[in-house]
Amino acid sequence: MDASGFRSELLGQALGVPFVSYADTLYCDRAVIGGWQRTTEPIHPFTVAETMDAGWAWQIEHEHFINRGYVYSSAFISDEDARAEHLRKNPKIPGDKTRVVKFRAGRYQTLWMKNVVGIGNSAGFVEPLEATALQVICVEVSSLADSLADSLCEPTPTLIELYNRYNTAAWDDIRDFLAVHYKFNTRLDTPFWKAARNDVAMHKAQAIVDFYRENGPSVVAGAALLHPSNSFGMDGYLAMLVGQNVPHGKPWNAPPMEREFWRQRCQKLAAYAQTGMTVKEALMALRSPNLKWG
Ligand SMILES: Cc1cc2nc3c(=O)[nH]c(=O)nc-3n(C[C@H](O)[C@H](O)[C@H](O)COP(=O)(O)OP(=O)(O)OC[C@H]3O[C@@H](n4cnc5c(N)ncnc54)[C@H](O)[C@@H]3O)c2cc1C
Repeated sequence: MDASGFRSELLGQALGVPFVSYADTLYCDRAVIGGWQRTTEPIHPFTVAETMDAGWAWQIEHEHFINRGYVYSSAFISDEDARAEHLRKNPKIPGDKTRVVKFRAGRYQTLWMKNVVGIGNSAGFVEPLEATALQVICVEVSSLADSLADSLCEPTPTLIELYNRYNTAAWDDIRDFLAVHYKFNTRLDTPFWKAARNDVAMHKAQAIVDFYRENGPSVVAGAALLHPSNSFGMDGYLAMLVGQNVPHGKPWNAPPMEREFWRQRCQKLAAYAQTGMTVKEALMALRSPNLKWG
């Protein structure tokens, strides 16, 4: 197993498997990373992804630390300007505590070659816009374990071919889903975002978008348009398409009774959420000597 990260010592270097670039969809190739020690900021139970001039920024919550990273395209902004924008928008980051990471988006053409199987970043990489890296590792590891078990540890060429087809498709599905994030983000009119809206290659997401534009949210679409192994499913696509207000041909003007039902439902859920624990309370409860599991 090649789990050597970006270095891809065996799959990429020793075996020279060609790299399939995702650069026609994913323009970002660098990140400037920095954060600060938490003081009184509430610990969010979610990760924020925020639009930036030439890409986007994450905010990842740690108990005592807030981690922020600006993922950007070096074709649209210099390292220095990206760093300056990151610090301007996050004044708590100490200026001398940032670092730039370079990456290329894509995957190797074949993930299992001869007796080598690439896992994780050694097999491919996409920016963490949907925090998919660990899930990909899980899918790769479990499908490898299944393949070895099914073949009594003597994998056949057809089984290896199937493994490659399944796992390369899983990588491409992520690229296609991320395409929707770039194509329909209308927040900023910077050169990066104009280019993203005009030129991002949609690949298999195009068929889903075309269907949505004609038909709007549809119950049938999920089953028919997407492969059952697609990790985002139609719900994921709808969250992006509806959430980004992508216009479609079947707008629904809900009658007052339905609007009232929806209002009450939102109110009920908001009230229910208020009864939940904060992250701080949950951490305290977890560490309490009185905690009993199960
Ligand atoms: C701040 C941050 C937040 C993240 N958040 C998320 C998230 O929310 N969700 C998510 O899914 N992912 C997230 N990720 C990404 C995820 O953590 C990484 O993609 C994942 O850890 C990659 O694992 P890997 O094993 O493929 O590679 P790596 O973690 O890079 O491991 C490769 C290892 O191989 C070793 N190595 C290389 N060459 C050799 C050699 N020749 N001999 C021996 N050892 C070698 C390296 O030293 C390294 O230890 C985040 C990453 C960061 C930095």
